[in-house]
Amino acid sequence: MRAVVTGVPGVGKTTVMNIVAERSGYRIVNFGDLMLEIARERGLVSHRDEIRRLPMEVQRALQMEAGERIGKMADVLVDTHMTIKTPFGYLPGLPEWVLKAISPGLLIIIEASPEEILARRVRDSTRMREAEELRSIEEHQMVNRMAAFAYAALTGAFVLMVENREGRPEEAAERILEVLGYGGD
Ligand code: ATP
Ligand code: AMP
Ligand code: MG
Repeated sequence: MRAVVTGVPGVGKTTVMNIVAERSGYRIVNFGDLMLEIARERGLVSHRDEIRRLPMEVQRALQMEAGERIGKMADVLVDTHMTIKTPFGYLPGLPEWVLKAISPGLLIIIEASPEEILARRVRDSTRMREAEELRSIEEHQMVNRMAAFAYAALTGAFVLMVENREGRPEEAAERILEVLGYGGD
């Protein structure tokens, strides 16, 4: 089974996923890593947070290539986004052709309060995430839920919403492990 794990920037997806990977047989593939690798080879960006500011068509082309690569991988958890907030509006992370290639059985949304998310972005100096207004983060989380159910309607995938509580990423990881059949470990 391929599962997609998403959440707004800075919510803690990669942190939670690393714990899931340590405690399960699931391999993690980061969609952004693949896009970054391709974009770097072409001299388009030097940092992952520049990808969402590339021209629309370039983002779509990179997205398609990364999606096709992931579609060839069996039994992976895909660390990605339901939607990406770009200067041109929201880009769907799983447009129909990517959704078909990946064909996920489970769609996971990791959430936290907008206040916690903003604080996590500010604390994390390794990244160049937008310091958004709280209501803008709230809107993005709402848009992600809507996108998830559109993708679910097209695939029949289950949708799991998980809270990544402050200081407790293990709890979020445990909920995901439980659903993946690694509960109680
Ligand atoms: P992006 O989509 O931009 O890759 P992400 O969702 O993968 O973001 P992470 O890089 O995992 O986010 O986490 C962002 C920051 O928040 C990191 O500094 C991480 O240590 C911290 N963090 C993650 N989970 C929690 C938590 N439950 N409580 C407090 N801090 C957390
Ligand atoms: P991340 O580290 O998860 O933030 O990924 C880095 C960047 O890759 C994101 O900010 C997006 O620009 C891009 N990205 C990741 N997943 C997708 C996707 N499914 N579709 C389009 N762009 C994506
Ligand atoms: Mg991440």
